[in-house]
Amino acid sequence: MNEVAGSQGPYDYDLIVVGGGSGGLAASKEAASYGKKVLVLDYVTPTPLGTAWGLGGTCVNVGCIPKKLMHQAALLHQGLEDARKFGWTFDEQVRHEWATLREAIQNYIGSLNWGYRVSLRENAVTYVNAYGEFVEPHKIKATNKKGKETFYTAETFILATGERPRYLGAAGDKEYCITSDDLFSLPHCPGKTLVVGASYVALECAGFLAGLGLDVTVMVRSILLRGFDQQMANLIGDYMESHGVKFIRQFVPFKIEQLEAGTPGRLKVTARSTVGSETIEGEYNTVLLAVGRDACTKNIGLDKVGVKVKEKSGRIPVNDVEQTNVPYIYAIGDILDGKLQLTPVAIQAGRLLAKRLYGGSTVKCDYVNVPTTVFTPLEYGACGFSEEAALEKYGEENVEVYHSYFWPLEWTVPSRDNNKCYAKIICNKQDHARVIGFHVLGPNAGEITQGFGAAMKCGMTKEQLDSTIGIHPVCAEIFTTLSITKQSGANAQLSGC
Ligand code: FAD
Ligand code: NAP
Repeated sequence: MNEVAGSQGPYDYDLIVVGGGSGGLAASKEAASYGKKVLVLDYVTPTPLGTAWGLGGTCVNVGCIPKKLMHQAALLHQGLEDARKFGWTFDEQVRHEWATLREAIQNYIGSLNWGYRVSLRENAVTYVNAYGEFVEPHKIKATNKKGKETFYTAETFILATGERPRYLGAAGDKEYCITSDDLFSLPHCPGKTLVVGASYVALECAGFLAGLGLDVTVMVRSILLRGFDQQMANLIGDYMESHGVKFIRQFVPFKIEQLEAGTPGRLKVTARSTVGSETIEGEYNTVLLAVGRDACTKNIGLDKVGVKVKEKSGRIPVNDVEQTNVPYIYAIGDILDGKLQLTPVAIQAGRLLAKRLYGGSTVKCDYVNVPTTVFTPLEYGACGFSEEAALEKYGEENVEVYHSYFWPLEWTVPSRDNNKCYAKIICNKQDHARVIGFHVLGPNAGEITQGFGAAMKCGMTKEQLDSTIGIHPVCAEIFTTLSITKQSGANAQLSGC
């Protein structure tokens, strides 16, 4: 027990972390490395269809990991087609087995879940598979799967409870629709699929399902990828459309009915226009809702301890050291108000927070210029400002945009998709033409963007980029030779080969 001057100690633990996902696990292991007594509570509330998973949170179980692996499965399909042009011949009909993919991915996830448990044990972090809820200051109730309640106290708490998919509130949605929480472990192939939503999750899932050969339609309420550079978002949409994904724009579903049960069954979706009174109907095997995610902050007793939550979003405001309005309670990851919802952000914030709390560090998490990638069939990597945000902040006269389409060498022999890949940088003319926005649409965009993200952290200018010698022949070299400005109006498309 730890006696703490000036508070209600002694406490059972130095630190209790609520949520064993990306942020919570990173924070707890780091805190334990300073000899602190740490407890992690992690509990997965099953989806309305009963899907649940193991330790590790969203990224590992129902996010980044299975998503990227399914994206890879889809890329291989394209690779098979290209392979013939490179001289490979294979006579068998190419078919995809959903069950094989699902099993392989779920086995890998199982190994990660196990690895996390072992790593917590090795780091002397106590892990309890139970749902945490504050009951009074410094005290939390942990309820396990069987309903058994145990109470724990701690000097300090870190909230890292993440988010869960939102439902539409339309008739039949919870009964018949799935979300990304169900998709990756779906026992059967989803078949003809309607994806509702137009952001990260929606477009990534639509992209890999279509890449696996399924009939996929995306129902878009307004625009693609709100918050992202809209030129890039529309190029992503164009590419997906030219690769077989259908888009129904400016419609939202209001009724989902089951026509036939089965694996998959048949569903009827009725949707209404967002700009007129028109209604449409469609039949699908699966309806995947990807209409945003809600912060898991409602039922964790925050009112009992006075932690403020943004009323509309349910997210938690914190200061620049991830402290809530209640000094002994911190929050990290997806539940934060106004921060980026990405795994490496949650991990970085958690690790640095523990170092500050217990390691004497003063280093804060820097949420600026965080690189990210949308794993659509044509990947999109971005860091810094979108073009519209840069123009709004600095004014048209102070912003220079350089751009070019490019054709990956690997795509020339299969002669596909010329002038679909695109590179764009946004420079601040008032500040040595510093690169304040980086955007790339092409294969391996994530791998490309990671390095340029580091360069942007170092303050890369256009001149420095120009003096960087390219690596030939790779896609990223285009960024070392960008010369066409948008303002010039010159054609940024490639002519000839
Ligand atoms: P989480 O990882 O969600 O962990 C929270 C944990 O707390 C969960 O295990 C939850 O069950 C548990 N919990 C909740 N309430 C309680 C409670 N009261 N008691 C105990 N436990 C509780 N990010 C990327 O960087 N790259 C990607 O490619 C990417 N792809 C994604 C794809 C999808 C489909 C989705 C949905 C997300 C993706 N993300 C991606 C986002 C990423 O998964 C999240 O940003 C990240 O997991 C957030 O970490 P976290 O620690 O805040 O929460
Ligand atoms: P999101 O970014 O909040 O987008 C929600 C989407 O659903 C929007 O297109 C929105 O349309 C639409 N929508 C909302 N309500 C709707 C309704 N009632 N009917 C129809 N459409 C509706 O959510 P998300 O895609 O679930 O992503 C959540 C977060 O996870 C992201 O912010 C991201 O940080 C993280 N993530 C990261 C990655 C990655 O790094 N690759 C991948 C996936 C997720 P409007 O534009 O009209 O509002």
